[in-house]
Amino acid sequence: MMAAVLHGARNIRVESCARPEVRPGMVLLRVRRAGICGSDSHYFAHGDCGPFVPTRPFILGHEFTANVVALGEGVEAPAIGTRVTVNPARACGFCSYCTSGRRNLCRKTIMLGSASTKPPTDGAFAEYVTVRADQCHVLPPELDDGIGAMMEPLAVALHAVKRAGVVSGKHVLVMGGGPIGLLTAMVARAYGAVPVALSDIVPARRKLAVDFGADIALDPAAKNLSEQVGALTGDGFDVILEASGARPALRAAFDLVRPGGTIVQIGTLGVEDVPLPANNVMVREIQFLGSFRYGNVFDEAIRLAASGRLKLAGLLTGLFPLAQSLDAMKQADDKANALKVQIEITNSK
Ligand SMILES: [Zn+2]
Ligand SMILES: [Zn+2]
Repeated sequence: MMAAVLHGARNIRVESCARPEVRPGMVLLRVRRAGICGSDSHYFAHGDCGPFVPTRPFILGHEFTANVVALGEGVEAPAIGTRVTVNPARACGFCSYCTSGRRNLCRKTIMLGSASTKPPTDGAFAEYVTVRADQCHVLPPELDDGIGAMMEPLAVALHAVKRAGVVSGKHVLVMGGGPIGLLTAMVARAYGAVPVALSDIVPARRKLAVDFGADIALDPAAKNLSEQVGALTGDGFDVILEASGARPALRAAFDLVRPGGTIVQIGTLGVEDVPLPANNVMVREIQFLGSFRYGNVFDEAIRLAASGRLKLAGLLTGLFPLAQSLDAMKQADDKANALKVQIEITNSK
């Protein structure tokens, strides 16, 4: 099969690889469409992703739509031919986290297209990939291949909003106007948050946020930011979802949240510690929560997308055949202009 293989920083080669074997309990998938995630871009830019350093060349990609083409021993569903999207995080299913409903915390998780395991686990920028049967989620016909490949980032947004608790009727701020921030704002709005504000230092991203359904966009560098927030919310936001991964944004969240409010950290902040106003957390009873990947939210993400309440199609800003994976990665790197860049794989032999 053909695949886009990462050999090091800025070194992706489309080459012939062995097709993966379908083992018991697994299914073989023919990939149709795969999206480039921030973590893929990080591997492409640096050759690694924080502490995850690949021990051999490997295939990136974990957001995708595919068809089931073969079933391993013992697998009855999904049937051959079914079009699916995939939860790329394969939790063990047996540990205390898995059995208590917190699969995203499973320490034995095997993540597609990731060097979190040694050797790294190959991903979906390839004609074929194998996953455990229960990682597949059936896509309804109203979701095309491009939207299907967005269910993984949508699951990230959905899980984060769920971490915040009930958002209906709440004043919500999303920090960061990249794909995850925009999706998080869309989900918060669909779930009834009023108003939904989004902050980003880039003016073009603030404009996009309003186009995608945020009620208001805020400039985090504005001199009168606290007056603006006061006018909008009274005493601060009930919920702040931090999706920028910028340290100043996280620090500002503690000033912009109301007493008793909740901050959810979605963005990756790097490996160094970040100083926090701990006394504020105490005297104002601020809840500071992490949100990591997703639990079992894929089917809900699919239903929410199929309802038409989210403007997902507009997130796709670039589409390349597998043979042009290098160009796709370069375009995804252009943070000022690109939102979601995808690779079309089925038609790109
Ligand atoms: Zn992703
Ligand atoms: Zn587990």
